[in-house]
This record gives sequence, C-alpha cells and structure tokens, in this order.
Amino acid sequence: MRCFHCTAFMSPREFACTHCGSLRNPEHPAERIACERHDGDEAVATCLVCGVPVCRRCAVLRDGKFFCSNPEHGRIFEDSLVVYTGQSSFEAAMIVHHLSRAGLASLTFSLRDHVETFWLAGDENHQVRVQRTEARTALELLENLGLMVSAEQETATH
Ligand SMILES: [Zn+2]
Ligand SMILES: [Zn+2]
Ligand SMILES: [Zn+2]
Repeated sequence: MRCFHCTAFMSPREFACTHCGSLRNPEHPAERIACERHDGDEAVATCLVCGVPVCRRCAVLRDGKFFCSNPEHGRIFEDSLVVYTGQSSFEAAMIVHHLSRAGLASLTFSLRDHVETFWLAGDENHQVRVQRTEARTALELLENLGLMVSAEQETATH
C-alpha cells in the first residue's frame, strides 16, 4: 500500500504515513479522525513531530510534509532525528534521563496524547528526538546501554 500523498510505501498497520504525515485514507468514513483544534473538521494528516491530527485549515505543509500549526515543529523535524520509537512511556522517559545525564538534550513526543488508542495498532507511539548533530553520540550511548534504537540509525551514522 502506498501513501496517496507522497507515494511512500506504507505498512498496513500504519494509520498515518511516516514520511509525510498524511492519514492513510482521509476519504474513507471508517478512518476519520477529527482535527484537534477544529472539532468536526476531518483531519487530513498528523503532525510528523507531535502527532496532533490536523485538518486542511490548520495543517502546515513544509517540503511536502505535514506539521501542526506550532511553528517550531517543522524546524524540529529538520534539526533533529528520532533515536527511539516504542510503546513504552517509561522506556522513553528512561532514555531521556540517560541522554540528559550524558549532556544531550532531547525532546519526547507521544502520539497517545492526541490520537485515540484504537488507531495505534503499531508500536511507535512514543518518540525521543535529539539534535541531528548529536544523534550519532546519542545512538552510541543507547547502544552501549543495550537500549533499542530506531530505524533512523542508518541516517544518523552515515
Ligand atoms: Zn506520505
Ligand atoms: Zn506538531
Ligand atoms: Zn484544524
């Protein structure tokens, strides 16, 4: 299955495209999610950074990718990389803690704060992001601690 917005490959368990944030099928009545700010308006995407569902009115399209109206989020997406994705808020908090002890600033976002649990069949509900320039150091640290790292590792280490 391909994303109808950016044509990237989507796994059937993803409800939103991980490349552009577009919802799998916004036209499909059974897959409707409401915009978080404009109740009653249908979301067309979720912000790639924080996961907030956005409608046509408040979606910010940047480089073909969807973000919420928070002006920071497009920038955060460009300047940082995901070093952890997983199901556990506890694990995410632990990783933030280890990173901060090593002097690395990080940001954490949870889709669960915004999207109803029944949509989240996948396990990538919690994300930890670090500055792009510090991603390699962060990933090495997490690896040494035996903590799971995400698919973006390849991007970070090349
Ligand atoms: Zn897409
Ligand atoms: Zn956002
Ligand atoms: Zn809206």
